[in-house]
Amino acid sequence: MKEAITNLFLKILGKKQGYCCKDCVKNLYSVMDGEATKDQEEYFRSHINECSPCFNRYEIDKSVKEVLKLKVEHKEVPSNLIASIKNKLNQ
Ligand SMILES: [Zn+2]
Repeated sequence: MKEAITNLFLKILGKKQGYCCKDCVKNLYSVMDGEATKDQEEYFRSHINECSPCFNRYEIDKSVKEVLKLKVEHKEVPSNLIASIKNKLNQ
């Protein structure tokens, strides 16, 4: 299980360049951390509706955050969560 997660993160890091728009990356992290302004969030949400690479990235990063949170709290990471991240990475 631990190895599965490590491999997963390596794969995700390798895909970082796959992000289509530089602005999106900045916005993504602000939005996820709840630090985005209303404008940033609106821009981001309307952008991911039209931009599937960014949408996909957002979904992946969201799931990864969930995994990290569970790990920090020493909780079991559900295998279906890992499976869904892997699934998205392969899209
Ligand atoms: Zn984009």
